[in-house]
Amino acid sequence: MPVSSSPATRLVHLGRPDPLPGAALSPPVTFTSTFHADGPVDYGRGGNPTWSAFETAVGDLEGGDALVFASGMGAIAAAMSLLAPGGVLVAPVSAYSGTVVLVEELAARGAAVVRRVDITDTAAVVAALDGAGLLWVESPTNPLMAVADLPALVEAAHDAGAVVVVDNTFATPLLQQPLRLGADLVVHSATKYLSGHSDVILGVAVSAPTQVGRTAYETLSRYRRAHGAIAGPMETWLALRGLRTMHLRVERACANATALVDRLQDHPAVARVRYPGFGAMVSIDVVGDAAAAERVCAATRIWVHSTSLGGVESQLERRRRHALEPASVPENLVRLSVGIEDVEDLWRDLAQALDSV
Ligand SMILES: *Cc1c(COP(=O)(O)O)cnc(C)c1O
Repeated sequence: MPVSSSPATRLVHLGRPDPLPGAALSPPVTFTSTFHADGPVDYGRGGNPTWSAFETAVGDLEGGDALVFASGMGAIAAAMSLLAPGGVLVAPVSAYSGTVVLVEELAARGAAVVRRVDITDTAAVVAALDGAGLLWVESPTNPLMAVADLPALVEAAHDAGAVVVVDNTFATPLLQQPLRLGADLVVHSATKYLSGHSDVILGVAVSAPTQVGRTAYETLSRYRRAHGAIAGPMETWLALRGLRTMHLRVERACANATALVDRLQDHPAVARVRYPGFGAMVSIDVVGDAAAAERVCAATRIWVHSTSLGGVESQLERRRRHALEPASVPENLVRLSVGIEDVEDLWRDLAQALDSV
């Protein structure tokens, strides 16, 4: 494929078998635990051709080398192993709850000395980097939609000798490529936009084509083999199939989100709209308390009241209904994952739910 082709073209064609006469167009799902000796991979915990197909596609989109994991948290836990035992981890106060909980656990057992920062406060992050081994960034953040100044943070972290990992789940590699901004490693919950159909749990880490990136790749590859909670070939194949339409899904979902943000800003039941100006994730603070926000979630008929995001279906939920959600998230915040349905249907449904509060 021409190297100049755009991501929309590349994600349709990447990771397919070589176009030999009679070869399959679609990569098969390879269900095997082991391989004949003396090849590049000997055992299925170390590699699988279906993993390779998915990794080729995602690695290309992010501009690095990908490793698939059994979940986003699997990729995140592996990435945390880049920090030397007891090293300094600079991490966001507010981020995906699973990441916040993992960081707390690392601190509690002495695996990391954690400095928590507001990642939108660049000066505060820079000040926290002295002696740090790892800077963890999520941008935009889940669910506050905070955006970090990635180039500035990357530069300061590298000056301090810290490795930079970016959770790029909300932006997708179509809207933001942190490795091209200098980050060392990107992680995704492939459960979300990459697969896009709410039918698979999967994660991926992508390392930069640099010395630090290559070392990170080796560390994560060893981690995956040693810890052993690997991705299933079927899940990986489903994610690759979903990836083929990611550009269309993201384009439509973003257009829907932009149209809804304008209208939400004018709705009397909405106290605040949190939208970074790109992507298809939007959070709203509903006028009133947690109960008012719950009533909105219970009153929709098209929007699905469920956790998770990035699927073709529009979803909503009050994040603080989860006990582990950080207290920095308001009780009345409802997170919206805007899907690809007709935008007028989405608005009518959301507006009637907001009107009912
Ligand atoms: C969902 C999510 C994760 C966790 O991914 P899983 O696939 O559920 O393990 C990590 N980061 C962000 C930003 C997420 O939204």
